[in-house]
This record gives sequence, C-alpha cells and structure tokens, in this order.
Amino acid sequence: MTDPLPTVCPACSVGCRLRISPANDAVIPVTEGPVNRGGMLCHHGADCFDAHADTQRIRSPMVRIDGELVPVSWKRAFTRLESAFSGLDPDSVGFLGSPHATNEANYLLGKLARCFGSNHVDTRARLCHASVATVCEQRLGSSTTISSLSDFRLTDAFLVIGANPVARQPVAFERFCRPAIESGSPLLAVDPEPTVTTACADRTLHPPPGADHTLLDALCLSIIDQGFADKSFITAHTTGSDRLHAAVRGPSVAALCEAAGVAVDDLEPFARTFATADRGAILTATGIGSCDHNGTPAADRLVDLSLLTGNAGRRGAGVTLLRGVGNEQGALDVGVRPDRLPGGHPIDNEAARDRIRSTWGVEPPTTPGLNEREQLGTIGSDINGLYVMGENPAVVRGPQNPALEGLSVLVVQDPFVTETVEQADIVLPATTWAETTGTVTNLERRIQLRQPQREGPAGVKQDWKILTEVGRLLTSGSFASRDSRAVFEELADVGRRYHGIRYDEVNDGGVQWPVDEDPAVGLRSRPFPFGPIH
Ligand code: SF4
Repeated sequence: MTDPLPTVCPACSVGCRLRISPANDAVIPVTEGPVNRGGMLCHHGADCFDAHADTQRIRSPMVRIDGELVPVSWKRAFTRLESAFSGLDPDSVGFLGSPHATNEANYLLGKLARCFGSNHVDTRARLCHASVATVCEQRLGSSTTISSLSDFRLTDAFLVIGANPVARQPVAFERFCRPAIESGSPLLAVDPEPTVTTACADRTLHPPPGADHTLLDALCLSIIDQGFADKSFITAHTTGSDRLHAAVRGPSVAALCEAAGVAVDDLEPFARTFATADRGAILTATGIGSCDHNGTPAADRLVDLSLLTGNAGRRGAGVTLLRGVGNEQGALDVGVRPDRLPGGHPIDNEAARDRIRSTWGVEPPTTPGLNEREQLGTIGSDINGLYVMGENPAVVRGPQNPALEGLSVLVVQDPFVTETVEQADIVLPATTWAETTGTVTNLERRIQLRQPQREGPAGVKQDWKILTEVGRLLTSGSFASRDSRAVFEELADVGRRYHGIRYDEVNDGGVQWPVDEDPAVGLRSRPFPFGPIH
C-alpha cells in the first residue's frame, strides 16, 4: 500500500502539509512542509480526517420529485438543472462559493455566475476580517498581509489584538512566533478575557468588549505623549498625521484608559514596549469589528498604531491578518465576491476585463452584484434562484434564517447532507477535501497543492468537474479545462495575483504570490513590499 502524495490540512489557514495513512486513516505530518517543517501538527490537524463521516455522504445526484429528494443519474440532474435555470432571469440568480473549496472550484463558480449573466456571487470569506482588510487596502495598498510567517524571526515585539493565535493558528505561533519570543521579543496581548495567548504574554490589557477603539486611542496618545512616535517615518511615508493627533488629543491618556477599562500603569509600559521595538508586528483577526466591509474606527486606529510607530513596509513589522478558514485567502484571490474579478481586480478594471473577455468568450457584468447577506435577504424579490457550493446558508449567522423556501430553484453542490441540502431542488454530490485535487492559499499567500488521499464514492465528482459541466450546460462561455491544472493555469492567466506561478512548483513547497519573473535571466523573485497589482 503506497502512501498518497502530500495534501494540505483543511482545518485552518496556516496550511500545514500532511498525508492520510492508507493503512489506518491516521493523519501523518509531512516533515518537509514549508509551514510545518519538521512535522508539526496541532490537534485540529491531527483530527482533521474522519473516516466515519462517510455515513453522511451524498452518493448520487438528487432532484426533488413530489416534495421528496430522489436519487437520479447525473444526466437527469443536469437536464433538470438546465430546465430550471432556463426560466430564470440571470440577474435573479445568486451564487455562493466557499472558503473550504479549492481556488479552482471558487474560480469556476465565479466564472459560471458571470458567464450566466449574474454578478451576485459571494463567499463568507469576504466578511471575515473585512474591516481591517478594507482599511489596509485603502491606506496601505493591500488588503492582504504582505509579510510572511518566516519574517517573524525578525520581529522585536508582537502585539496581538482581536486574535488568539496560540489556539487558532497554533503551528504558525509555535514555529514562527515562539522562537522570537523566547529570544527576548516581548509578546503583548489585548483581549477582554484571559486566553491561552494572553497566558503566554509579557504584558496584557483586558478592556471590556467593545472598547477596542478607545483602547487604541489611548495607546496612540500614550505613544505620542511619551515621545515615542516615529517622526522620521511619519514625515517620509505618511500624510495626514495631524488627523490622528486631532482625533486622539482632547481627552487625556488617563481619561481614555478609564473609558477603556484599563489602568494607566498597565497601558503606558505596554505602549512603550511596542513603540520602542525596532520591528513591531500587530497580529489581528476577527476580534476587531470583523464583518464591516466599510472598515471600522478601531481598524482605522490599528493601522494608525502601526504607522505611528514606523511599522509598515518592513519584514517582521506591520499588520498581519490571521485568517481562519483553510482557503479564505484563496477564495478572495480568485474573485468570488460581487465587487471583484479574479485576481482581486475591481469590476471596472479594463485590463482584467479584456483578459476575461478573451479567455471566457463573454463580456463580464459591469456593475457589482449582491453580496451574500443581500442575496439571502431578498429571496423571493430580487433573488429567485440560488446555486450553493459547499456552504450551509440555511443556518446563518444572523438574527433569522433565510427563507430558502421562497426560491424557485435551489441547487446545492456538497459532499454531505446539510440543512441547505434538505431544502434543495437539485443536489450535486461532490468530493471531500481528502478526495480532491487543486490548490489552496494560506494566510501568508502561499499557494499549495491539495492531493487526493483516497478515492471518493463512485457517484461523486470533484467541484471543478461539476462546475465545468454545468458551465457548458448553462452558458456560452468557454469551459474547456480537462483537469484542475488547466483551471489553475487559466486562473493564473486571467488574474494577476497568481500570474507567473506554475502548477508544478506549487506542489514543491508552495509558492507565495506575487512572483516577478525575468525570462532573460531566469530569475524569479518575490517583491516586498508590494502594492496594488494590475
Ligand atoms: S495549525 Fe492549522 S493547518 Fe496546521 S495542523 Fe493546525 S489546524 Fe491544521
């Protein structure tokens, strides 16, 4: 029995490499993995494969007949799908992708939507970390973390706020942060509650929930008052610092501390420790007003803090977004959102539109579509059809579940029976992560290859394959790819984030985007820092 080729842990966005033993289904770390070199895995990774989950698998396409989901052939399911979608206005159909699915699957879902004529395509990956990502894009030029995990070896002080990396990104913390901390770089942590991360910290602040903005005001003002603002960096690299001064001046540090629920005697040394470090890294996650894609004042002040202390555009410094779900970064990179094209390009980017037009053979929509919340909130009025891949919107994270019964047609592509599958009109059975070939992108923009650890049941297909067949069925776009390699190559050609990256090298330790290539000398480099990519 030969071991399968390495794959990527699906349990978080750190991207550790592993194999599943064909002998006993045990999870085995891959020792030469670029992220978990040496064979580290956390307990989430060690438990990521459940061979017994097969009891809940969908093993055949199903369509609803007389109120019941009935197993049918793929041909019959596709005939029903074609018939149902032919009666729908394309602009009344929503498409939901998944941060659990591969880059290729998410890319094809977005392509299917746009070739069908709808721009209502989204994924919850867009909501996670939206406030900080938006502010970073507006003010620093990139919504994506531009540094690498290995850069933390250079970090002189870590400030963790709105995150719990010891629990949520354990291998990243233990392998890349812990050595620097044990060498003397202080760990500063802000959290309303004691956590396993605050337990490791040299200094902690525990403001009550909702006091982040006031606490960050206090940190910024304390740094200014103590004379630790990096004036040369501010002069050389920023504009509008007077806006920050005006915003935080007025109340005293003591008054801000009282409002933030922390002691001045705790805050001032905390601020001093971070401000006097040469390279200060801010690690943050969904704890800072996560879901507001217009940004939030707290996210704005977090970026102020990094600029005030000269911590931007240098390795080991700056703001790092600790993304959570396995392929959250990749789902955003490939354009599964209503306002961006593959490669993260704005919907009106003419160069991106030209590439799409010539590759897809259709004109992509010109205006942003409805996001996930808007789609689910307008079922029965704006939205009459919904195509869901690997998500379960019947159970939402809001005040009430969406009225999926108001849809004319609900299509769900998923390996398992879920609450959404139970309401579907057409069900298309997909492989699991352990049966899938394709790429995923971790929180440091590292693209790695997912490779099958075992075969799926006879009646299921990989997401990219299903979407290619549905694309041919429902649209006039070019859905010619014969395998996930061809889909990746098309994606790398259409969207510039992955441009120049070859599928083969993704398997050999992964590749971080962006890549600059000089064909004359065969040199490849990873520019740092990088700004907007066109
Ligand atoms: S740190 Fe994340 S990717 Fe690594 S083993 Fe744990 S859950 Fe999996």
